[in-house]
Amino acid sequence: MSEASKTNLLGLTKGAMEAFFEGLGAKPFHGRNVLKWIHKHGVVDFDAMSDVPKALRRTLHEMAEVTLPRIALTQPSADGTLKWVIELVDGQHVETVYIPDDGRSTICVSSQVGCALDCSFCSTAQQGFNRNLDIAEIIAQVWLATRELGHPPTNVVMMGMGEPLANFDNVVPAMELMQEDLAYMISKSRVTISTSGIVPALVRLREVSDVSLAVSLHAPDNALRDQLVPINRKYPLEQLIPACKAFIANDKRRKITWEYVMLDGVNDSIAHAKALIRLLQGVPSKVNLIPFNPFPGTAYETSSADRIEVFRQRLKRAGIMAITRKTRGDDIDAACGQLVGRVKDRSRRHLRRIPIVQEQRP
Ligand code: SAH
Repeated sequence: MSEASKTNLLGLTKGAMEAFFEGLGAKPFHGRNVLKWIHKHGVVDFDAMSDVPKALRRTLHEMAEVTLPRIALTQPSADGTLKWVIELVDGQHVETVYIPDDGRSTICVSSQVGCALDCSFCSTAQQGFNRNLDIAEIIAQVWLATRELGHPPTNVVMMGMGEPLANFDNVVPAMELMQEDLAYMISKSRVTISTSGIVPALVRLREVSDVSLAVSLHAPDNALRDQLVPINRKYPLEQLIPACKAFIANDKRRKITWEYVMLDGVNDSIAHAKALIRLLQGVPSKVNLIPFNPFPGTAYETSSADRIEVFRQRLKRAGIMAITRKTRGDDIDAACGQLVGRVKDRSRRHLRRIPIVQEQRP
């Protein structure tokens, strides 16, 4: 059998692993054992998997492989944040960020090489889009982080490069592996998917997963959101908000986390805060205010700390839990919206890019 047709076991969920082993004529429990070797123990050499019978190991050598991308570069930040630049087999790069905080270890995972959504304040957007990561490439980021840290992360946020819901079929099984007892055992409340709001995919996600949901809102009305998060033109707020509400309707303890980037003079006034309060009325919510992280070429500026605090207090007075997200790792371009990897753009978007925000300052 040629190399090309070997199955990469790294990307198989428990169910898929059992089915693969059955297909080899082996008992499914061997599949579960191999899953455990790979993800829990970090062992990828079939011959080191002591409870796998010798004959089955030979079959595995013929039919399967465990292929991992490599860490091309580790960049430490002064604040303890680490950025790993991950080189994929096709030579492209994505980035994974490790954020230690108060006993928690969070890793921020990428889902695509680049991003197609073109949010005006995000540097990943400027890279354009090349392709989806496959299941193995997504879970590999958790595998590598676990080995680097010496333990699995306590939290995973799908907040790296890409729009995870635009890569639904690979992101969902990868998040299943993060939660899997035989793998990383991260509880569903500590696996968070962040989306700019692809409504049909959100509706589908609700059927198959109950991970935590973060939504990149960034504006309280359609006119402004159309400009900042262009996918809003396709799925406006009157579709997005009910879909989010429905996502958490099964459990009174759940909340939606709304991400709101603070752009000076664009979306950070008291009027915006009031409109946001009206928009979120009746939705169990937590608002994360993210000070804008600048990147080369952007015309936006970060709202002042005072302005952010006034905005936050306004939300709090209305009974909305609101926190200002600490900026982490910006000295190594690892903060929100600063991940760029190295992407061969296939969208040719620079040919059709038009400036869409008038309100910003020069
Ligand atoms: N595509 C997904 C996942 C990205 S998560 C999503 O849109 O949710 C990364 C978060 O950082 C998003 O909320 C994104 O809107 C925000 N972000 C992007 N650029 C930023 C910047 N320059 N400064 C601060 N936050 C930014």
